[in-house]
Amino acid sequence: SCRNVLLTGCSSGIGLALAVRLAKDELKRFRVIATMRNLDKREALEKQAGPALDKTLEIRQMDVTSEESIRRCVEGIPQRRVDVLVNNAGLGMIGPVESQSVAAMKSLFDTNFFGLVRLVREVFPDMKRRRRGHIVVMSSVLGLQGLIFNDIYSASKFAVEGFCESLALQALKFGVNISLIEPGPVVTEFERKLYEEAACMDLSAVDQETLDIFQGFYMAYSKEVFTVLGQSPDEVAEHTAKVIMAEKPPFRYQTNSLYTPMTTLKHADPTGNLPLNAFHQMIFQHDRLFKASLSLLKMLQWRKRRDVSYNKSP
Ligand code: NAD
Repeated sequence: SCRNVLLTGCSSGIGLALAVRLAKDELKRFRVIATMRNLDKREALEKQAGPALDKTLEIRQMDVTSEESIRRCVEGIPQRRVDVLVNNAGLGMIGPVESQSVAAMKSLFDTNFFGLVRLVREVFPDMKRRRRGHIVVMSSVLGLQGLIFNDIYSASKFAVEGFCESLALQALKFGVNISLIEPGPVVTEFERKLYEEAACMDLSAVDQETLDIFQGFYMAYSKEVFTVLGQSPDEVAEHTAKVIMAEKPPFRYQTNSLYTPMTTLKHADPTGNLPLNAFHQMIFQHDRLFKASLSLLKMLQWRKRRDVSYNKSP
């Protein structure tokens, strides 16, 4: 049977890749409703969807910050039937907290957290009535673990994780599945937008020592992490497609196995000091350790390449 999949944020990145991946399913198991805030940006998706366009994939407008826009979109689906919701739309934010306005922080939460809440309120009651459905949420490893200068973004993903962890208990009772997808760095527009915003942020309230850490160290470190550990949106889409197709979908799924050791540190020490000290050392003894962590990253990259080539061999 064909499942209706409603996806948000499909003009670029992971959302676009996943919409295309599902629409091109050989067994045609999905009818993809790929949504985006601004339909003027539909060209990239149309191009990649190719012959699937208007067959297994249709493009609709949806802004996750507007209840009205969400309602209109869901009402447009026959019988309002959303079998799978993929909450993907999201914004990033980096920098010292003193450099960001509370208005910008609220608008990030409005998309990353309240966008999810609005969507769930619209589709979850129907899913409960039908006693089936799957809510798939693009979280992040930063929803499990904080990172310097990602305070607000990480908080928004922690909010997403707490919300889903609570909701999952109720969902289970109604036969509805919830899955959190937790990617590490993914090379998409997301990264470009981060650096663009960082380049024009107001740093006047930030002291010199913090600025040195942010501009002198963090920016280089972040770029390196994306280059060395970054996955492609197609890779993340492939993992997410597997979760959607799973008979018993996992509640949490990390797409990048290289991050699992780092997120595990947290569970190894309930005081929280172990991961805190590990990250602190990695960042602040950077003369020595920056070089060491870069060579560690390079080693991991080598391992990743090896894993990929293993996976490809018959
Ligand atoms: P992206 O910027 O390419 O895609 C995000 C999409 O969300 C864009 O198409 C954007 O237009 C859309 N969007 C933003 N606000 C919206 C709104 N109000 N309504 C509807 N759409 C809106 O970046 P991406 O990397 O593909 O990000 C997708 C998701 O993956 C996000 O939730 C992000 O937090 C998460 N994620 C990204 C990374 C990464 O490193 N890129 C890592 C972990 C998790």
